[in-house]
Amino acid sequence: MKPEWELLRKLYERTTPTWQLWPDRENCPECKGMGYVRHTYPVGDPRCGNLDMCRCRLKELIQDDLDKERDVVSTIMAHSQMSGHERTLKVNGLTPWGPQEAWKTMRSAQMWACDFVDSMERTGTSKWGVLIGTYGCGKTHLMCGIANRLIESDIPTIYVYSTALMNAIKETFNGMKDTEEFRQALVEIPVLMLDDLGTENLTEWARSELEYIINTRWAEKEARPIIVSTNLLPNQLRLRHPRIASRIMDTDLSRVNIITVGDYRQRGAS
Ligand SMILES: [Zn+2]
Repeated sequence: MKPEWELLRKLYERTTPTWQLWPDRENCPECKGMGYVRHTYPVGDPRCGNLDMCRCRLKELIQDDLDKERDVVSTIMAHSQMSGHERTLKVNGLTPWGPQEAWKTMRSAQMWACDFVDSMERTGTSKWGVLIGTYGCGKTHLMCGIANRLIESDIPTIYVYSTALMNAIKETFNGMKDTEEFRQALVEIPVLMLDDLGTENLTEWARSELEYIINTRWAEKEARPIIVSTNLLPNQLRLRHPRIASRIMDTDLSRVNIITVGDYRQRGAS
């Protein structure tokens, strides 16, 4: 196993938590053992009527992957933070809504996302990226779309909600051994994607860990790209996390995409 996969596996073992708590298929209250569930989406949503994979089924798949010990740890890792639905999302999968001028900002973010993936595929390096926009504007869709394409191309990727990462850091670094390996995995994974950064309340200590990870990657520039999404505007982010903001919004290194379309669930409401 390549060292980076080995690191990922260790990181994964350290952060497993959520899926192991999911129900087993035979007594799953959500799908009654079917393995699939029908979620309620707003009328007109293209996903209406779709069957989504139930968490109990996803848990089986993850377990299978682990049992087989295939070199797909990155898939598991990135996907362990994604729902069955999110695993199917594509960078260009959103259909336009909202004012045309606003949609252009999403279109431009989509083009940036495609360039990011192309660059990783061709050279294994890329500039960094920040996706800024309101709740429901499609940031997570874009992030998952990027992660899915990177994983298809066999590029080890961690996609994680910032809050979940902070919790994992807290648990791991709280008296557990091998914290250095955990840190190393977060520093060395080729692509690190942090969804919804900035809203969590960081303790001084968690903040300094996060700063360490981002700083160390920043020293490697394009060789260790980070993609961040946030609801905070650049000046809010700078106020809240000045040292983190100065790295992830480094103008020489990072493309800041400000997406101005609103919540897609509210589209057509005005
Ligand atoms: Zn189920």
